[in-house]
Amino acid sequence: MSGLKLYNSTSHKVEEFVPHTEGKVSMYTCGPTVYHYAHIGNLRSYIMEDILEKYLRYSGYDVNRVMNITDVGHLTSDGDTGDDKMLKGAKREHKTVMEIAKFYTDAFFADCKKLNIRKPDTVVPATSYIGEFIKVIKALEQKGYAYTAGGNVYFDTSKLSKYYVFGDVSEEDLAVGVREGVEADDNKRNKADFALWFTKSKFGDQELKWNSPWGLGYPGWHIECSCISMKNNGEYLDIHCGGIDNQFPHHTNEIAQSEAYLGHDWCRYWFHVHHLNTSDGKMSKSKGEFLTVSLLEEKGYDPLVYRFFCLQSHYRKSLVFSYDNLNNAKTAYDKLVARTAQLIKEKDTSPVDENVLNVLKNSFIAAMNDDINTSNAVTALYDVFKADTNAATKLAAAASMDEVLSIGIIDRAEKLIAADEQQDIPEEVMELVEQRKEARARKDFATADMLRDKIAEMGYIVEESRQGTRITKKV
Ligand code: AMP
Ligand code: ZN
Repeated sequence: MSGLKLYNSTSHKVEEFVPHTEGKVSMYTCGPTVYHYAHIGNLRSYIMEDILEKYLRYSGYDVNRVMNITDVGHLTSDGDTGDDKMLKGAKREHKTVMEIAKFYTDAFFADCKKLNIRKPDTVVPATSYIGEFIKVIKALEQKGYAYTAGGNVYFDTSKLSKYYVFGDVSEEDLAVGVREGVEADDNKRNKADFALWFTKSKFGDQELKWNSPWGLGYPGWHIECSCISMKNNGEYLDIHCGGIDNQFPHHTNEIAQSEAYLGHDWCRYWFHVHHLNTSDGKMSKSKGEFLTVSLLEEKGYDPLVYRFFCLQSHYRKSLVFSYDNLNNAKTAYDKLVARTAQLIKEKDTSPVDENVLNVLKNSFIAAMNDDINTSNAVTALYDVFKADTNAATKLAAAASMDEVLSIGIIDRAEKLIAADEQQDIPEEVMELVEQRKEARARKDFATADMLRDKIAEMGYIVEESRQGTRITKKV
């Protein structure tokens, strides 16, 4: 395996990565709360987590990645207060909570696809795991870690020897009951206690409720991730991912309840992605321009340019989004694609020089092993184009690195070549190509074949593939 070193938020150190079971990695990612589109800040976290997952696979690990979909229980303040995010979304759009959940779950995965983010092996909507949550909450109650007050079930943080595992949290930072405009929950015995199950919801119109030993109600947000991970990844989790804002209280609470339930340590490495900010500060779905992948596309950006933009900086540094910065990334990306296209056009059939390929790959591996240093990994990719070797070797190296980086340079380069070729095609030929497309669309294959022959007589070959129609000049 690779010699990967990863920063671990619990130890505050870069550590050698050693999974619990040799050769296998269990990985958990906090999924989206599906009450609205994901903004590109949320997607920065998923891009960097995707890079980590793909690099682990690239290094030879058998990875099992699990993600939840939060479709119940996430309140506006992570400290169990504020409005229910799903209910807010449903009201905004005059739809049911489940309609909203379905729509934004699909939208999330559509965005991921555009950004070349692999879908996790297992994706679990929280609403499908209610029985599992009840089982774990009951066990926590039996072990003396949970109490009922005012109809809700709470986790008793005073039962733990160490609760703030990621570091000290000041009283001021405590989300529970101290934020401006947020009422304290008098049911809690300790300020840091958190809800496992609500029956006395302050939302009278809460749509989704389930029977439980504590009455009709719904789960808290934190219990979702613990249960979904433990059920699908087992008792020992190797890597837990999320945005840095999830460290407290969400991940802190996940650790508290999972370890109380299991009776032993739970997750070894905590991987936190720092925020994407705007020049005015934190990215938001309600203030300023709501930055989504679709918006970037409307403005003419390839979503993979955004992915490339994210890779240029380290996941543990906050990143400022501006169109100027994105334009710089676009210029660099376009150059990379153009250089790749040049290599493809060489149609080099000579063998790949395995020694040079390994040297090139090793500098990429060294960058990635260094706590997923994607900006150095991108430099390793640039070095491929400068290397003193043949086009076949360069292309093999670039393709190998792109298995992890997933900026689609080969695909985009092929598209660029096809588009360039298209420009030199005479108008009469293009006219026939259009007619052929229409014939194929109405399944009139006899006409389509006849038109292909006609195009061939004029000296051009027309081919259809998943990427679209390609026309090339006969040689
Ligand atoms: P949510 O849909 O609000 O549950 O958030 C989904 C993921 O995005 C979580 O892992 C958050 O920690 C992360 N996240 C939220 N805001 C940002 C941001 N501005 N930059 C990067 N990640 C973020
Ligand atoms: Zn979570």
